Formats: sequence, C-alpha cells, structure tokens
Amino acid sequence: MTSEDTLKKAKLLEIGEIFIPKEIDMPCFASRSTAGPDAGFGSHAFEFGAARVKLGVTKDQGARLRLKQIDGSFSIYLDGDRYIEQARILPLAAHAPNQAFVNLSGECRMGCAFCSMPAPSGKPQPSLSAERAMRIISISSRQKEFEAVAMTSGIPESVSRTNGEMLELVREVRRQFARIPIGVETYIEDLGDILKFRHAGATEMKINVEAWPEERFGKVCPNRDFGSTIAALEKAVEIFGRGKVTSNILAGLGETDDEIIEALNHLAGMGVIPNVRGIRIGAANAPKLEKALGFVPERVKAERLLALGKEHRRILEMNGLDASKFDTMCFSCKCCDIVPMIDV
Ligand code: SF4
Ligand code: SF4
Repeated sequence: MTSEDTLKKAKLLEIGEIFIPKEIDMPCFASRSTAGPDAGFGSHAFEFGAARVKLGVTKDQGARLRLKQIDGSFSIYLDGDRYIEQARILPLAAHAPNQAFVNLSGECRMGCAFCSMPAPSGKPQPSLSAERAMRIISISSRQKEFEAVAMTSGIPESVSRTNGEMLELVREVRRQFARIPIGVETYIEDLGDILKFRHAGATEMKINVEAWPEERFGKVCPNRDFGSTIAALEKAVEIFGRGKVTSNILAGLGETDDEIIEALNHLAGMGVIPNVRGIRIGAANAPKLEKALGFVPERVKAERLLALGKEHRRILEMNGLDASKFDTMCFSCKCCDIVPMIDV
C-alpha cells in the first residue's frame, strides 16, 4: 500500500512550486539550479515523514502551495488547508541535500526542447572550472549530510571538451576523497569516454534517453542521436555494472503509459535503472516544447506519477534491480521523482 507521505509527495510534485512569504525565517538559502528542466529557478528541499521533495519557489502569492511557520515549525498548506505538518527544510550540500552535485556549464548547444538551459550566447559566460568545482565540493564535504559527489554539464562547445573537463574533475575528486561515490551525468559520443570515466574514479553514470520512443526523442532532442544514446547505455552497463547506470525518461510529452512502460522494460532489461521524471514547464521551455510537439504540455498528475511508480518498481524487481542501492544523483537525493523501492 502506498504510504500517506508518498501520496502527498506525488501531489507536491504535480504542483511543483510553493509560495514562501518573506517574513518566514528560512533556515537555509534557496538553491538555484543551472541544469535540466529547472535551470534558473530557486528551490528548497523539504522532508516530511519518509518523503523528500524539492519545490520551486514562486513569487505568486496565489500559488496553491504556501509555507507557514507556526511556533518555529514549518507547515505546507494546499489550497488554504494544512496539508503537511512538521516539514523539515533541508540544507542543500550543493544543489542536493545529501551530495555535492555540480554543473560545470550552464549553457548548452544541444537545444533539447524541454530544457531550460540557454544556448551559448557568444558572450563569455561564467562556467565552473574544475578548480572552482573542487572548492565547492570541499566546502560541502564539511556538512554532515555529505555522502556523495555528482557532476553534470551543458555542452557549450563539444561533448569531447566537456567530457575532458569532467574527467579532470573526477580525477581530482578521487584524489582527495578515496572512497566517496562519484556519479557522472554526461553525453557520450565516443564510447571510449565511458571507460575513461570509470578509470578516473567514477562509480555511477547517467546518460539520459529523456523521451520514448525514438520518434518522440527526435522531436524533443533534435541534436542528439537515439541509437548512440542506447549504445552508450549498453557500454556503460558493461563497464559500471548492472544497476550502476541510470537514465531519465520524461513523462508528460504526449506519450502513453504503455510507451513509458516499454521504455522502462527496455532499459531495465539492459541493466539500466531508468528514472521517470514528470515534465516541468516554465517560460524558458514552454515555447520550445510547443514548437517541437505542437502543444504545451501540462504537469503530470499525482495519480499518474504514482501508477507509473508502481509499474516502475515491478519492472525493476523483475530485472533484479534496486534504485535504493544507487549512491549518487537523483535516486539517492530522492527530491524530484517517485523513487521505486523508496517511495513505492
Ligand atoms: S543536452 Fe539537452 S537536456 Fe542536456 S543540458 Fe543540453 S539542452 Fe539540456
Ligand atoms: S532529484 Fe536529481 S534533479 Fe532533483 S534535486 Fe535531487 S539531484 Fe537534483
């Protein structure tokens, strides 16, 4: 049976954003994502019971979710009624509550329709050098919640250049932290890069398929190749092992549940643990999505997230995979998705 906490988490994921009145005394700063569908937005992570969720912070005072502080403790209100009591606001090591997750570049030339990361502007942009990223990781490592390091990056120039920079950072993290799990979320054009990441010290890898089937992938990721993404995932499983490779599948792009389930079966059959993520819509990606798909998607309903979560768990079990054993990135952070084996 799905716990009350998971039902509430799914509802919060469906809504996605919360209004925080300025008189509230927040115990930590908001995190500002520079990668993925959330790029550019401030957010806070909340924990209640066994559930954890990250919500974007909105300035809209009429938002359905509102944070209240009563006698020092935090409650989340939904449509004016108290929905969650005793919510804890989690400090974010760097982006995530349990790990330093750094993004080396906030620009990307790949132009995926759902992604809010801007295309390279031609002007020099601050990117995170391996040295600066290492400083952020070192500072985060002093927090008691620090359990892992993860990294991602947009592709401002070329995949090979970005992977070279990420490899440099993986080597340095491994040099300074002998045993910390290191997750790398990357794009692979040269399959040889996967072994280089493993040799440098990475322990887990994420290569996102994002959309299923191939025809939909072609619409939303026009500058990426579906076949080589699947080939990279196969190679990553060969090198990192079954259950040590993950891949995001977005829900809400007009696909059916059967298509998501087909993707889950396909990827889990390869030894990949897929991650189902509900699409997030904002000013930066709505026009691109409308152009690519012919409509502006809506956020995925809680009921659908939960139903897919249960199927997801069943498919992982059938393939002997366990998302709760992942040490880095989204499964261990647990903030943005219904995580099989943890939430359902
Ligand atoms: S490859 Fe696509 S999803 Fe990834 S950062 Fe670039 S535009 Fe965004
Ligand atoms: S679940 Fe993933 S995307 Fe969401 S906050 Fe955690 S690490 Fe970031």
